[in-house]
Parts: sequence; C-alpha cells; structure tokens
Amino acid sequence: MGTKTQVPALEGWFTLDPDTPALLATRCKACATYFFPRESYFCKNPDCLGREFDDVELSRTGTVWSFTNNCFKPPPPYRSPEPFVPYAIAAVELDEEKMVVLGQVVPGVEISDLHAGQRVELVLDPLYEDDDHEYLVWKWKPIDVGDAEGTR
Ligand SMILES: [Zn+2]
Repeated sequence: MGTKTQVPALEGWFTLDPDTPALLATRCKACATYFFPRESYFCKNPDCLGREFDDVELSRTGTVWSFTNNCFKPPPPYRSPEPFVPYAIAAVELDEEKMVVLGQVVPGVEISDLHAGQRVELVLDPLYEDDDHEYLVWKWKPIDVGDAEGTR
C-alpha cells in the first residue's frame, strides 16, 4: 500500500486533488441545469434547446437521500476487485446543485451505519488495483455527526 501510482479509474469525471477532490460536471448556459456525467452536446432538459455548457466542479458535500447494498458486480465502465466484495451505495443530494449523485460508500461503512439525511463528503478511494496502480473513483464518506460544520 502507498507505493502504487494513483490514477483515475474514469478519465475526466473528477479532479485528482487529494484533499478536496470534486466531481466534474457541465451546466447548461441556457437553463442552468447541471449534468453529471458531463453533457456537452445538447441539453437533456426537454424544455431547453441549449447546446452550450460551462464546465463546473460540483459540491463536495451533500445529504444521503437513499442507499442500498450492492451485492452484484456492476456493469462497465465500473470495475471491481476480485473476488467481488459487496459494498454500500448511496444516492446523495449535493448541497448546492440539489442533484442526486450515486456513489459507493467508503469501505468499512456498513449499510446499518447509514441513514437518510446523513451528511457525507466526497473522497477518492481505490476502486480496484493492479500490480503498479491504484485506480481511483469517488466515494461518499460520512461526516461525523455532532461535528458542526466541519469544526474539530
Ligand atoms: Zn438547458
């Protein structure tokens, strides 16, 4: 651990800042709708004809909206360690954009540790690895409850 080169499992989906990683999205210039994964061809808002987008970084914190335990290997582009280990997935409403982003929950957090309304933050964590690399993806990490607004 720690000697492998860390690379993104998905190119261009998030920044690689180790302390404050952020998801990369686009925002329609016409109707201000956010898109993650990035949309850059035409706006998916049925009431909008927008075809121009701003690149934006999404909020790094949000609130758990729902969650589940994933006991099946996800389809591509996701890849999984072998043997496959079940993990929790959370749907998180981002603080600023109010959009819901799915993500794995960091290892060590059980489904019984999660509840709707829980505060979480975005971190990068290995999705899988080979001999030389750790392939990073975003995951949701619970923020300590009772720790008001990040003070320690
Ligand atoms: Zn639009």
